[in-house]
Amino acid sequence: AKKMGRGNYQFFTSEMNTAARTRLALEKNLRSAIERNEFMLHYQPKVDIRTGAMVAVEALVRWNDPQKGLISPAEFIPLAEELGLIIPLGAWVLMTACQQNRQWQDAGLPPLRVAVNLSAVQFRQRHLVEFITQVLDDAGLDAASLELEVTESILMQDAEEAALILANLHAMGIHISIDDFGTGYSSLAYLKRFPLDTLKIDRSFVRDISSDPDDAAIVRSVVALAHSLRLKVLAEGVETEEQLAFLRALGCDEYQGYFWSKPVPAAELEAMLRTRAAH
Ligand code: C2E
Ligand code: CA
Ligand code: CA
Ligand code: CA
Repeated sequence: AKKMGRGNYQFFTSEMNTAARTRLALEKNLRSAIERNEFMLHYQPKVDIRTGAMVAVEALVRWNDPQKGLISPAEFIPLAEELGLIIPLGAWVLMTACQQNRQWQDAGLPPLRVAVNLSAVQFRQRHLVEFITQVLDDAGLDAASLELEVTESILMQDAEEAALILANLHAMGIHISIDDFGTGYSSLAYLKRFPLDTLKIDRSFVRDISSDPDDAAIVRSVVALAHSLRLKVLAEGVETEEQLAFLRALGCDEYQGYFWSKPVPAAELEAMLRTRAAH
């Protein structure tokens, strides 16, 4: 047993070394990617469930690595947060999304909000409100054309401070959404303390909505309570017509998902907007 234990130990350390080396390499690549600006944004429509109109687009970052191609944010956002690199990267995302929206408006396309994800590290940075004001100003974009998506955990960490920051942003006219709603620990009674506009129901509740009565019941109660707090409800991850029909019947206001469109590059989104404007 001793021998086996020792063998396991050696195996384990070499595994850890490999993991540590991989991580170190990723960290080095991520730092240089930020210096070289190897990122791009894709945009995914948010659609009004009743009218089918596009009301907003969510900006989602991709790392365009010259060797590996497009890398998903799930693979680098957590490390970027850990290393504090999310501050410069997040600033780039915000500026790019605002400038892009301004360009679409200048091109005479139907007006939309652009939604940007804010991680906890960004939310806690000093002078966040001033920074966002500056970005809007530089881009020449109206605050009402910007939406910020924050998670429940951001609200829970320091509720009083979070409420103050959100109140400032909301007072400017920025639209505030809670992302991945239902996966955290907040309650709707708690949410009334924050100036919010939309709850985004996490896609884990949407996936089996047509076959799982529990998921349908959860969505139904979130919709009812959110509406009584005068919040809109958006369903994430809608992939099928059947899911959409269920969500419509349950009173969801908006949806987002592959059924309408996956996240696409700016040029493709623009083409989508042009076809719609032509109708
Ligand atoms: P999220 O904010 O919850 O974004 C939704 C994710 O679901 C996106 O993945 C989107 O591509 C995917 N999705 C949309 N519709 C469907 C669908 O119908 N089915 C399925 N299966 N998936 C769908 P993505 O782009 O890989 O982003 C993953 C996460 O990375 C985001 O989750 C967000 O938490 C984070 N992220 C992305 N961009 C940024 C950013 O600029 N800043 C920060 N802080 N986080 C970001
Ligand atoms: Ca989001
Ligand atoms: Ca989400
Ligand atoms: Ca998510």
